[in-house]
Amino acid sequence: MTDFLQTPLQFLKGVGPRKAADLKRAGLHTVEDLFYRLPFRYEDRSRMQPIASLRPGTKAAVLGEIKSARLSITRRRGFKIFNAVVSDASGAIRCTWMNQAFLADILQPHLQVVIFGDVKLDSTGLHFLNPEYELVTEDLTGVHTGRIVPFYEKTGTVTPNMQRKLVRSALDRLPAAIPDILPPALRARLELVPRRQAIEVSHFPPNEASIEALNAFRTPAQRRLIFEEFFLFQIGYAWRRHAAGTELKPLVPVVDDRIRAAAATILPFKLTPGQRQAIREIVEDMQRPQPMHRLLQGDVGAGKTIVALLAALVAMENGLQVAFMAPTEILAAQHYATIVRLLAASRFRVDLLTGSTPGLQKHTVTAHIERGTSHLIVGTHALVQEGVRFHSLGLVIIDEQHRFGVVQRAALRAKGLRPDVLLMTATPIPRTLALTDYSELDISKITDMPPGRRPVRTLVKPESRRDEVYQLVRDQLDAGRQAYVIYPLVEESEKIDLKSATEMADHLQQEVFPAYRVALLHGRMKTDAKERIMHAFATGQIHILVSTTVVEVGVDVPNASVMIVEHAERFGLSQLHQLRGRVGRGPWESVCVLLYQAPWTDDARERLKALAETTDGFAIAERDLELRGPGDFFGTRQSGLPKLRSGDLVRDRGIMEEAHREARRVVVEHGLTPELRHFVDERWQQQFGLIEVG
Ligand code: ADP
Ligand code: MG
Repeated sequence: MTDFLQTPLQFLKGVGPRKAADLKRAGLHTVEDLFYRLPFRYEDRSRMQPIASLRPGTKAAVLGEIKSARLSITRRRGFKIFNAVVSDASGAIRCTWMNQAFLADILQPHLQVVIFGDVKLDSTGLHFLNPEYELVTEDLTGVHTGRIVPFYEKTGTVTPNMQRKLVRSALDRLPAAIPDILPPALRARLELVPRRQAIEVSHFPPNEASIEALNAFRTPAQRRLIFEEFFLFQIGYAWRRHAAGTELKPLVPVVDDRIRAAAATILPFKLTPGQRQAIREIVEDMQRPQPMHRLLQGDVGAGKTIVALLAALVAMENGLQVAFMAPTEILAAQHYATIVRLLAASRFRVDLLTGSTPGLQKHTVTAHIERGTSHLIVGTHALVQEGVRFHSLGLVIIDEQHRFGVVQRAALRAKGLRPDVLLMTATPIPRTLALTDYSELDISKITDMPPGRRPVRTLVKPESRRDEVYQLVRDQLDAGRQAYVIYPLVEESEKIDLKSATEMADHLQQEVFPAYRVALLHGRMKTDAKERIMHAFATGQIHILVSTTVVEVGVDVPNASVMIVEHAERFGLSQLHQLRGRVGRGPWESVCVLLYQAPWTDDARERLKALAETTDGFAIAERDLELRGPGDFFGTRQSGLPKLRSGDLVRDRGIMEEAHREARRVVVEHGLTPELRHFVDERWQQQFGLIEVG
């Protein structure tokens, strides 16, 4: 028996080459695709109202007989109007269709019909205007009316009505018994609706189904299909993770009292509860025989560095080397300085290796790395270059991991003997996206902040208050502080009304702040030019840094206490939050001014308001995801967002959570069934549109 579900759609009745092509373009190739593309909403057309009870301004369904029908052509503009009068036991009503002359052949007198649509009242009286209709044969439950009706996204020339008819006719041909890829034990435990039934009633629900639950996609049938999709997505990652876990580390670190004491001596402050929890999770992982793959999330300033350093200490005390990779030379140098200071009294050697490390020094450092006499190496991607060979790399720490390509990560990992990997990010990722983009990772979060940090005061101001804002900046500069001015783009575009950052930098220097030094930083500058300017800003030689969003990543200039974001209405929430994190790093009260250009959209207003109200990066990320949707959340970054047919990452986040948990559980407890194994090996990547790297 060939699987009917895999039948290409062009073999269905009524699907010609043109429609098939349209369907394909919308990602619908097979009958299965058609079934798993859920309606985007449902409408209750099941309750027939007596015609006498109809009220204008409502949507209603009636069942009656066509009493009369007439096609007329208006003299003015030649409109074709088709009128039919439908009556039931309670009364009669006129139905009017504009420019659908063909209806005269379909809706003929004496036929029984269901009418659904808008009830209107005008000078011609009460009537239905352009309603949906369906002829009633023996059975009252039709396809388009007389029931709860599914609505589909229009795809090319395939109208929602056509798709509805297509789904119905495919369902009529669907065998009673169809294969189910979900393992029976899982189905039983989660009490999942059988697959055949789930498909049927997700498209054509019984009339007693709750229309609210349907439109929230929370009926058991819909949940089952969404869960199935998410589970199949997660099982691929769970399986990979499981398979990778069978490669054991050559040396498993242990933690004893001596190491605990050593850690205590390097600590310059008391850890926050969040930091303590994170380090506990990390160290527990490190003591397992399988390599760690953990993501440490924590807002800017949450104190991730010290947590990473404690993990590094555990590795080094166990005779392992640690690579600490940062995305820029500035950050690497910052980390190096911090770490050297904290480890000054220890016996461990710390080295810095970046692209600009002079040749001779580079030679010395790489020799130490190779001999194992360098214990902790801080660096940029120079760490993954050919010439660098580690003696006993046991832990890889990657800061601001989203700035690194997957390839670089993999390259560094390949240098160690299956090292533990700790990724760090200050971009709070909503849980549901973490579960998709980083599904194979375990996640630790630091949700609190070191004590004494004053939240950044956030002001939302229109362009017209610019002078006032400059005064605020001047006050800060006069007090010895520094300022950021952030622009969304670097050059003026003809189409978009953007003040160019270049012009602005000149203007600020010449006219507004002549007594202070202004410099410009943007993404198209050469790396060394960028770093020179950053360095000058960090050391206080530049007072105002006009910049595009390149300052987003981890730059730490505590003396900068004020930031103006120009055209704040054009930035996403998470990005604004990230930018704001550049100030508020010193003991001073800091201010972030979000300047917007009127008129702003409701969306922009929502975003800026949300940002002014909260400083919790995780809450902001969740809100951002809701406002922008998963596709835009990551912007242009290449991401592992899966192609989905049934589920929605935002709407169905709870189901993704469950699928993630269950997939890991199935892999651990039962392994994969042959069907699942086949799916993971042969179809997984293609179905979810994932590109394999490395
Ligand atoms: P991020 O998570 O953004 O990388 P850092 O690790 O750079 O944050 O920490 C930000 C600042 O807070 C640093 O100056 C660090 O020394 C300080 N810090 C971190 N943890 C604590 C703590 N528990 N108590 C006091 N200060 C801390
Ligand atoms: Mg950091």
